[in-house]
This record gives sequence, structure tokens and C-alpha cells, in this order.
Amino acid sequence: MSAQILDGKAISADIRTQVKNRVDELRQAGHRAPGLVVVLVGENPASQVYVRNKRNACEQVGFHSELIEMSADTSQARLLDLIDELNMRDDVDGILVQLPLPPQIDEETVTERILPTKDVDGFHPYNVGRLALRMPLLRPCTPKGVMTMLSRTGVDLVGKDAVIIGQSNIVGRPMALELLMARCTITVCHSKTRDLEDKVRNADIVVAAVGVPRFVKGDWIKPGAIVIDVGINRLEDGTLCGDVDYEGCAAKADWITPVPGGVGPMTVATLLENTLQAAQLHAAD
Ligand code: NAD
Repeated sequence: MSAQILDGKAISADIRTQVKNRVDELRQAGHRAPGLVVVLVGENPASQVYVRNKRNACEQVGFHSELIEMSADTSQARLLDLIDELNMRDDVDGILVQLPLPPQIDEETVTERILPTKDVDGFHPYNVGRLALRMPLLRPCTPKGVMTMLSRTGVDLVGKDAVIIGQSNIVGRPMALELLMARCTITVCHSKTRDLEDKVRNADIVVAAVGVPRFVKGDWIKPGAIVIDVGINRLEDGTLCGDVDYEGCAAKADWITPVPGGVGPMTVATLLENTLQAAQLHAAD
């Protein structure tokens, strides 16, 4: 194995410390703690774990965090009323509605109801639009976390060929916008892409967000590439693996992210950064 490991646990720990220090400064200057409200509808076990991790992270950095749990049969109107209340509350800087939502609730309608300056997930069309126009405000957490990891390599990204596999609204698309803003040349691949392997073979940076275990093979990787594995897949034996064949790709790449301990912890740390940013926006209002 030749690749250096981009250690998401260590980088995210640095970010948490930075956020905590800033919260301490704000408190000492007489400001209230940043506040995040997490809304969980239904009892999806994976969502419960994600929500618990996010709330623990908030508490560690000194944020005020609240969890609002609603039953799986909650109506869309009831959830929208709750968001309206949270939008009005001065002590709430960030609102996070954990996805997926039950089928009677339209995720786009809910996302659009959150005030853009409280949209700490960065999913609101206003925030995605600002990213597309190179004037980002609150940026989608996972792609922003990947950019933080890329900056830790010290590699100059300008002009690099980047291939993103996956075009979802929460990962692939905003990832493409982030890399374009960093002046990479981007190729976005998806399930209808032809000759995907050839595209990956030419890539200086590969971001895999496919949702298929070990989809990207080592012999597709250009020597010296940076390989970012966003995938989180639970195998039948209960272990986690990414969308990249780690051993094979690590043998060819210069840098690689592990799963677990790569992009996952960065997503949570970036949520903290976004909540702090939102609190600072509201304080400046
Ligand atoms: P998604 O299912 O919404 O999107 C998957 C994308 O992969 C789609 O655009 C699809 O076109 C593409 N795809 C599927 N099969 C393909 C194929 N054979 N060839 C090329 N493209 C193909 O998934 P998502 O929400 O973007 O998540 C992707 C992965 O990232 C999942 O494993 C998910 O668990 C993980 N994830 C991790 C984090 C994190 O914090 N690390 C955050 C979000 C998602």
C-alpha cells in the first residue's frame, strides 16, 4: 500500500476543537451558545444513530441542542407548522430535519420551508444556488467536509481532473459544484454513464458516492490520484465498507480516505461549522 491516509477522525477532531474555542470566545463576550434543533420523524434506526451522533457532537462543543421527535404518522402540515415556529425562534440558529421522511411528507417542500440562514444542512435551493454561483453561504455538509479533507493534502487542486461518481442532490451534485469552484475540471458520472472506468482512469481526484460496496476497483485508479470514498454500506456480517475497493485503490493512489473514519466524521464536524456560521449570521443581523 502506498497511499497516505486522509484521517477523517483526526481532521474532524481539529475542527471540533476550533468550533469549541470559538464558542467559548462568544460566551465570554456575553453571547448565547449557538442553538441547533434536530427534528426526527418516525423511528428509522439508522436515522436515530445519526441524530444521536449529531447531538453528542453539539454538546461537546458547547452548543445548545434540542431533539424534537415526531411520530411516523405526522402530517406534512404539522411538520411545516413546527418549522415555521423554529424559523421564528431567536435562540435557534440551525434546523435539521433528518432524512428520509415518511412517504406522506414531501422532502423538497420541507427543505424549502426552512429559513435559508437556518438551513445548516445546506440543502435549501437558495444555498445550493449560491454555491452554483460561486457565492456560497451555508454549504452542504458532506461535500464541504470533503473539500476540507482535500485542503489537508496540500495538493494544488487548480486544473485537476476530478471525477465524481453519483449525482444525488446531497452529495454528487454539490460535490461537483465545490470542485468546480476550486477550479478543477469536473466529470459527473451516474447510473447511465458510458465508459465509466475510462473516465475514472484519467482522474486526478475520484469521489465515489454510489452506494454500492467496493464499486471502484484498484485497477481503474491513475497512479498518484486522490481517492475520496463517501460511501457507507453495511454488509451482511454487520461490518461497514465504502464504495471503493480500499486495498486495491490504496496501492495506486497517493491519498485515500478510509471507511469508517473518513468522510463520515467530517460530515458531522462540518454541521458544527455550519451551525456556528449560522449563529454568527444571526448575531450580525
Ligand atoms: P443516492 O442513492 O442518492 O445516489 C447514488 C448515485 O449513484 C446516483 O446518482 C446514481 O446514479 C449513481 N449510481 C448508482 N449506480 C451506479 C453505477 N452502477 N454506475 C454509476 N453511478 C451509479 O446516494 P447518496 O445519498 O448520494 O449516497 C451515496 C453513498 O454515500 C451511500 O453509500 C451513502 O450511504 C453515502 N453517504 C455518506 C455520507 C457521509 O457522511 N459519509 C453522507 C451521505 C451519503
